[in-house]
Amino acid sequence: TEPGVAAALAAAEAHSAHNYHPLPVVVATAEGAWMTDVTGRRYLDMLAGYSALNFGHGHPRLLAAARAQLERVTLTSRAFHHDRFADFCAQLAELCGMELVLPMNTGAEAVETALKTARKWGYQVKGVPDGRAKIVVADGNFHGRTTTIVSFSTDPEARAGFGPYTPGFEVVPYGDLAAMEAALDDRTVAVLLEPIQGEAGVRVPPPGYLAGVRELTRRRNVLFVADEIQSGLGRTGRTFACEHEGVVPDVYVLGKALGGGVVPVSAVVSSREVLGVFAPGEHGSTFGGNPLACAVALEVIAMLRTGEYQQRATELGEHLHSELGLLVGGGTVDAVRGRGLWAGVDVNPSRGTGRAVSEQLMTRGVLVKDTHGATIRLAPPLMISKEDLDWGLERLRDVLEA
Ligand code: PLP
Repeated sequence: TEPGVAAALAAAEAHSAHNYHPLPVVVATAEGAWMTDVTGRRYLDMLAGYSALNFGHGHPRLLAAARAQLERVTLTSRAFHHDRFADFCAQLAELCGMELVLPMNTGAEAVETALKTARKWGYQVKGVPDGRAKIVVADGNFHGRTTTIVSFSTDPEARAGFGPYTPGFEVVPYGDLAAMEAALDDRTVAVLLEPIQGEAGVRVPPPGYLAGVRELTRRRNVLFVADEIQSGLGRTGRTFACEHEGVVPDVYVLGKALGGGVVPVSAVVSSREVLGVFAPGEHGSTFGGNPLACAVALEVIAMLRTGEYQQRATELGEHLHSELGLLVGGGTVDAVRGRGLWAGVDVNPSRGTGRAVSEQLMTRGVLVKDTHGATIRLAPPLMISKEDLDWGLERLRDVLEA
């Protein structure tokens, strides 16, 4: 580690809680798919803020939208109306093919909002006896870090030591339709799923699973809540990962790329019947739906509407997966999963841990992050050039075959 980097790392460690184990790189600037550290060294960003940076760093359209709004008004709170709010809600609802939007800031807040929505809908609309609502989730899930959300995590690291846990959840195996059917009962108000599980290592469910869940939930009058925070907004080659199975859920939960990597913006998007359950005073957020957030998100929505990013994710994704496929079976890579410009690569233990591979890639100028020991996740910005993608893949091959 260079002296300048070592000093910056030590300073960062000195007064911060150690709830992360970042790679030892200290970024100073970034543009497009590239980041530059405090010593001037350049790195290709193949993680893209866990899909928050689908449009790359500092996209001119997003920066222009943010700058223009900074000069006008940035925060009103929801005590007053502001002139970007109506447009944001209308256009996000339209992008989702839905009716109403409830804006929040982070992903976890939007998931919490969806859980509260489902419970209230269960009592008010479905007629579940008060306090008896059940929500079904999948093992391996990752929906955020609040006390309620970690209550139904199956990852001991995320959950242990944070009890007492919120009741009212049942965990079923991801991808198992029979288990899902058995879990749905008269007090079930919602099924909450990631259409592809990101943190779990880009786990893609078996074909027909999402469509099967859609059918079961419709039959049992249960809300299908799709957490598209990481999978949505272009990453898989479609606006929503659910589209790959022709599935329209009852509720979308969105975050990450909705704020273009500029500001935190999240939202729950659904029908009038579902989001109509809220009355004034029952839910809210000081920053949710603020003017700056709305201005940036409006630009994100406009960029998604062109279809350009979805198409790039499809085309570059096919290339990514065909290249990664060549590595499987050669003794260095055990499996590759994913869809679009998104891949989980299981590294054979003989090549070291996911962490070790990530660190070696860093020394070669490529930034990725490991998850669950042996897996590295590739999720470059959707605007990455084919040349840069190939350059990154070449470095990956170098590291694996070293
Ligand atoms: N849901 C999914 C599917 C996620 O991938 C994440 C973040 O990784 C979250 C929720 C939580 O989002 P946030 O970190 O913004 O709270």
